[in-house]
Order: sequence, then C-alpha cells, then structure tokens
Amino acid sequence: MLFRQLFDYTTYTYTYLIADPDTREAALVDSVIEQVDRDLKLLKELGLTLRYCLETHIHADHITGTAELRAATQCQGIVPQNAQAQCADRFIADGEVLRVGRVPIAAIATPGHTDSHMAYLVNGTHLLTGDSLFIRGCGRTDFQSGDAGTLYDSITQRLLTLPDTTLVYPGHDYRGHTVSTIGEEKHWNPRLAGRDRASFIELMGSLNLPNPQKIMEAVPANERCGNMAALAS
Ligand code: FE
Repeated sequence: MLFRQLFDYTTYTYTYLIADPDTREAALVDSVIEQVDRDLKLLKELGLTLRYCLETHIHADHITGTAELRAATQCQGIVPQNAQAQCADRFIADGEVLRVGRVPIAAIATPGHTDSHMAYLVNGTHLLTGDSLFIRGCGRTDFQSGDAGTLYDSITQRLLTLPDTTLVYPGHDYRGHTVSTIGEEKHWNPRLAGRDRASFIELMGSLNLPNPQKIMEAVPANERCGNMAALAS
C-alpha cells in the first residue's frame, strides 16, 4: 500500500492519500479546498489516478476539496450514510468495504462528534479516526448533533476493541503528533484512560471551546461537497 499523511497548517487538518502501488488507483480522505493544487500535483508526480474522495464527516472547520478534485479527475465523492450532502456520488454504510485497487477501506460507524461520522480502517492496519479519537484527545461534541455519550460508546466499543498495534491516524492534531496506536491511546489518552462514560460526558460538557472560525461557511459548503459556485447561487 502507498500511504501519505498531508497537513493543512491553517485548520490543522490531516488529509490522507491511499493508493495501490500496482494498479495506481488512489483515494483521498478529508481533502481541504485550499490544498487541492498540492494534492493534484502529488497525484501526478506519483502517477496515480484518483478514484474516490472520501469524507469522515461533514466538517465544520474547513471546506472539502471534493468538488474541485471531482471536476479535475472525475473521481467519486463519497460521504457517510445519513450525512446531509445531496452532492455525494455515493454514500458509505457501517461495515461496507471500499476497494482502492486491492487496498480495502472498511467503514466503521463512529457517531458522537457528528451523528453520521465514519472511521476508516485501511489495509487492516491504518485506522483513520477522523474527529472521533485524536492522539491524546478526541473530537468535540458540542455542535452538529454531537453527543458525548455516543462518542464514548463509539470510541470504546468500535475503536479501542481493535488490536493494540493498529495505527491511529487522526483527522486533526494541534500539538504536533502524527501517528499513535490503539494500545498507546488506551493507556495514555487523558479523555479515556481511567474514565467511565459518566465522567467522560462530564469532561466533554465542561470544555467551553470557541466555535471554529469557518463554521458558518464550512458546514453549508460541505453539504454541497465544497462546490462554492452552488453556494453562491
Ligand atoms: Fe470535525
């Protein structure tokens, strides 16, 4: 498998490039509109054909690059089942396995940050957690139908039950981390280690985080897969 982690410094967002080195087919997970030129250049340099633009959820902090990438490459835009995005070419359900060449990408329903969030287990080894589990943290649950108890259940029942050696690649990082493992997060994630459901809910309810700067534009734009022309009309 070819696997690349890309970073957007403005919104601290990770985009992931997954490809089959033999068939040269590729997928991008959680692209960012300002980074579309970077991503297209990398695809070209690596000789890859973009098949899918996949989202872990409808983002509130950045606008997806899907519409522009789709226009440039004819890739399919795929969003989690039940996400508010009529622009999607395809929806992906819990347990569904998408294949990029021979590389399997398995969807794992992990609601809580939003009500239709998916994590993706790539190749059985690399877990893209989106905004559910972060390295030593987790996604917020105070807007977009977020729910702390639901997030606790998703993380503890769907993600921490994977093998300890599973690599954890989050949707964001604000402290300079790039990758962790399920075993490491079980022991050292301060939002989870030694906490029961009630104390997690209490902690998440006391965070008082400011809203993301782009929330008012990002959510409606992402419901249109980042198509800014449709947004303006
Ligand atoms: Fe998010």
